[in-house]
Amino acid sequence: FAPWKDPAKSPIVRFENVTKKFDDFAAVKTVTLDIFEREFFALLGPSGCGKSTLLRMLAGFERPTEGRTIVAGQDITDLPPYERPVNMMFQSYALFPHMTVEGNIGFGLRQEGMAKDKIAARVDEAMAMLELRPFAKRKPNQLSGGQQQRVALARAIAKKPRIVLLDEPLGALDKKLRQQAQFELMRIQETTGTTFIIVTHDQEEAMTVASRIAVMDKGELVQVATPGDIYENPKTRYIAGFIGDVNVFEGKVSAVSDGCVEIDANDGYKFKTRSSEPVAVGQQVWLALRPEKIRIAHEQPASPINAIPGKVEDIGYLGSISHYHVRTAPGERVTALRANAAHAVERTINWDENVWLDWPVDAGVVLTR
Ligand code: ATP
Repeated sequence: FAPWKDPAKSPIVRFENVTKKFDDFAAVKTVTLDIFEREFFALLGPSGCGKSTLLRMLAGFERPTEGRTIVAGQDITDLPPYERPVNMMFQSYALFPHMTVEGNIGFGLRQEGMAKDKIAARVDEAMAMLELRPFAKRKPNQLSGGQQQRVALARAIAKKPRIVLLDEPLGALDKKLRQQAQFELMRIQETTGTTFIIVTHDQEEAMTVASRIAVMDKGELVQVATPGDIYENPKTRYIAGFIGDVNVFEGKVSAVSDGCVEIDANDGYKFKTRSSEPVAVGQQVWLALRPEKIRIAHEQPASPINAIPGKVEDIGYLGSISHYHVRTAPGERVTALRANAAHAVERTINWDENVWLDWPVDAGVVLTR
């Protein structure tokens, strides 16, 4: 499981039954959620699921149709944005083109009427933290995308807000820069001890940066948990499929015993999985199985439980690992993953070869939805 970053356990943000309607359309539906002080929290979901709307209600740019927003114990539902202890960093960065880096970073502080020498000190501190000092006198159009992103972040933290809101902050960066920037965000969040709430549709990004993730679907919260818990124990097929690769087998429960569920899969196989999900014999269920939990081998396993034969249809070679797409007898395609370092001792598996797939009883997750 991914490490829990030990945020203090007091909720700094509380959404209470928050609903946002645009005319008849509910973009956010009765969301109740606690976010804790010093957490790096991610709102994750596909385009249009309502994650930006939820964030914008916290910033004060949208007003909930129903429900309350509480920050640090204070009901802020009716406060204007500038009176809230939050600061938002936008995907477009929204930098002022005519101002220098220094000018942009200090903008919010000047608006507040802070003394000049204090502003200069704060701006310098933020520039140092984001390694922007060499660019202090440049204008935004003289900076790379990654540098502009850092200026926007420096501006968001310079006011020392209690909560920093990030709406797809790295959306404009290419993959490599994006990964670097993710670690930078984590470093800044940790050094400043500020609560960060990020909106992203990128599951890898949420898994990397966040201590907890809320997965949203069609305006609803579907699961709130640590990245490790969401990956290992997704609650629904939607979440299992949205976070990482997964194989899903449909079937009916044939027996429940000793904390294990036995499943007669629709394709004729019998599976057995350790599970605490309350299910009844005869109930329709799905077995979700991550590719890396499946062993792929030429030899038939000793036990017939959780073992299926198939033929390798194609292989995705990714250097350190390979994905094996295996066509099983009833026509399903199952993906197994194997680390290539092991090839030195294992026989290579090639295209069109007959193989066996098997996995232990604690490898899969039984889902009812
Ligand atoms: P994306 O990642 O594409 O921004 P999202 O999950 O952040 O998606 P939201 O921007 O929160 O989604 O939008 C949720 C839904 O609400 C969408 O269907 C959107 O069209 C709708 N919506 C958002 N703002 C408004 C508005 N001002 N008026 C009408 N509908 C809106």
